[in-house]
Amino acid sequence: MNWKKRLTYFVLGATMVATAVGIAGCGSDTKQAAPAEKMKVVTTVFPVYDVAKQVGGDKVDVSLLVPPGAEPHDWDPTAKDLKEIGTAKVFLYSGAGLEPTEKILAKDVLQQAQPVELAKSLTLLPAPDEDEDEHDHDHDKDHDHDKDHKEDKHDHDKAQKEDKHEHEHEHGEFDPHVWLDPMNVAKEVDAVVEAFSKADPTNAKYYEANGKAYKEKLQALHAKYEEFGKTQHDKHLVVSHMAFGYLAKAYGFEQLGIMGVSPDAEPTPERMADIVAFIKEHNVKAIFSEELVSPKLANAIAAETGVKVYVLNPAEGLTEEQTQKNVTYLDIMEENLKTLKEALAH
Ligand SMILES: [Zn+2]
Repeated sequence: MNWKKRLTYFVLGATMVATAVGIAGCGSDTKQAAPAEKMKVVTTVFPVYDVAKQVGGDKVDVSLLVPPGAEPHDWDPTAKDLKEIGTAKVFLYSGAGLEPTEKILAKDVLQQAQPVELAKSLTLLPAPDEDEDEHDHDHDKDHDHDKDHKEDKHDHDKAQKEDKHEHEHEHGEFDPHVWLDPMNVAKEVDAVVEAFSKADPTNAKYYEANGKAYKEKLQALHAKYEEFGKTQHDKHLVVSHMAFGYLAKAYGFEQLGIMGVSPDAEPTPERMADIVAFIKEHNVKAIFSEELVSPKLANAIAAETGVKVYVLNPAEGLTEEQTQKNVTYLDIMEENLKTLKEALAH
């Protein structure tokens, strides 16, 4: 072998070593530089969005369909909303009749998205009857979510049952405001942890830890409400729309709605007269309006009866300003507790 050939071999070898090092370096660089892709989650309303953010943290990219400032009742998804649902890996909705499931759960809408109804594992209250007088409350009327299925005589026909399950919760059958009982939200956390862990097993431990930490906060909130409920004497909640049924049931309050379960229904003159009579009879000192609904009716009642109007937030949605400030469900519920203590202390 002459010197020229030796030199060639040497150069070749050196180049190969350099290349190998280069490749290895490149590989590890790529691993560190490219952030792991976040899991895409689409949610319908604020209380669902909030649970998704608490559990998902920085591992998920959560979008909210019902925009800030909008009342979620009678939400009609746009073509853009439906398209957005199809981009999700997990699609979370509240359920119990709040959203139009016939639209949002259509197969061509969902595409690959895994739909999860957060109210599914909860004990639902029937939709309040607007003509119902306070003495007619039937506290045994709570519906077990699975009761209808247990009573289904076609239990053996599993396919039919599962099909029925997808179309459950006719609009108006149940009270959809499940999140106003913090312990319901804690159960929803479990459902979200399960759904996220299944869709993104790599981060399962992370979702579990977030879920556990958030449930502790919900438990603390629950304890504060429970304490308040036990010590509070005046427990009449005259509210603008009947969103607080779960809160009332959990802490022993009695809810009377100026409007029904959905805030867009104009009350009849008889209804208004009933409310005024109720306020006088029970010596009610405060009534509650809300941010996303016009206070016109509450103000009219206040003018007639001399009660004070306070704002109680049903946590259905945020205003633009609250969205900018990243207001959470816990913030709203703490604020509500403060308002209740102030309004009902007399
Ligand atoms: Zn509502």
